[in-house]
Amino acid sequence: MLNLSLSNQQLTNIANQYGTPVYVYHAEKIAEQYKNLTTAFAGQDVKIFYACKALTNINILKHLKQLGSNVDCSSINEVKLALHAGFPPDRVVYTSNGIAFSEIEEAQSLGVHINIDSLSNLEKFGKKYGHTYPVGIRLRPNIMAGGNLKISTGHDKSKFGIPIDQINDLLRIIEETDLFIEGLHIHTGSEIKDVEVFIQGIEVLFELIPLFKELAFIDLGGGFKVPYRKGDHQTDITHLAQKVGEAFANHPNPNGRPLQVWFEPGKYLVSGSGYLITQVNVMKQTNATHFVSVNSGFNHLIRPMFYDSYHQITNLSNPEGEEKHYSVVGNICETDTFAWDRKLHEVREGDYLVFANAGAYGFEMSSNFNSRFKPAEVLVKDETFHLIRRRDKFEDLLNNQIEVL
Ligand SMILES: *Cc1c(COP(=O)(O)O)cnc(C)c1O
Repeated sequence: MLNLSLSNQQLTNIANQYGTPVYVYHAEKIAEQYKNLTTAFAGQDVKIFYACKALTNINILKHLKQLGSNVDCSSINEVKLALHAGFPPDRVVYTSNGIAFSEIEEAQSLGVHINIDSLSNLEKFGKKYGHTYPVGIRLRPNIMAGGNLKISTGHDKSKFGIPIDQINDLLRIIEETDLFIEGLHIHTGSEIKDVEVFIQGIEVLFELIPLFKELAFIDLGGGFKVPYRKGDHQTDITHLAQKVGEAFANHPNPNGRPLQVWFEPGKYLVSGSGYLITQVNVMKQTNATHFVSVNSGFNHLIRPMFYDSYHQITNLSNPEGEEKHYSVVGNICETDTFAWDRKLHEVREGDYLVFANAGAYGFEMSSNFNSRFKPAEVLVKDETFHLIRRRDKFEDLLNNQIEVL
């Protein structure tokens, strides 16, 4: 079993105090992950941008700001949340993907860094701002990487980024509109355990660097793999740091100043800090399996159904019980299997089951499907519990609806 950073007792106390289902985040675990990165890259000019689409609760953003992190945004509203959390604009990058040009104009007016991912928007940007506002380019390196196709973004059929085979069109637009290119960005996917993939990405970029005279940074995106079960591979950050250092030492920027290296980890910073605590509604023995239905579903944690992701499940209420096999499902009117034929300490109705690795893409992807409430969120910091989002109330379901009949 993975070691959880919060004790059974702490998690049980939170469930008792705030009810279930509830998301819990552990501030010190986030700090530990952030420190792993900064320690590994100490001595290199590396900046960490938290990819906040993983988890945008404003307290998490503020916590990462206090730790010294920068922030990577996937929408204009994330940019506004980051500014609301107190990040100065130069610590924010908006890595756009398929967005309307009006959002890029808005990001420009807010003064944040922008990575543009299409020739079309790049040309509009060049025509409007010319050389007055530096901009990064999101490239598609045509590299296959990441845990599976659904979370791979750099391959040659992916929608993300400007394909590097279109480099001539790219250079023509830059020339014609006198763009100021400050950065080159690639993000090849999520759950990349192999350090070589990042190095491959850097090698692709090294070929292009001489073409951009005003370059200040290379942005290698995120996608570091985290462990989901004991013994799982994870990205070896120390090894990565060493390889990145070597690669840049061997390829000094021919245009002069050394290039800064940016990373945009999402999962790595928050996945392991998060827990979803649920309670068992019903036990149901069938010919196929012994079902455990908890008071949640893919309306709260969609990753198992969406990506076949594995989340360790622990029975908080019966840690010494005999181990048996169960299939853990939710209570919504769709198939919402969290785990099939999973060994758990004997489960009884009313027990609390906690899902690990629920910090990234957990609450953030939740919905009100079946008109159920979204979970509450609790932050544990310095051993103290803080409610950071109240559970939905019935009125929230009618909020924004206009009753015309
Ligand atoms: C989603 C995303 C990330 C973060 O990916 P993780 O797998 O959570 O580390 C980083 N950069 C960009 C551009 C992204 O879209």
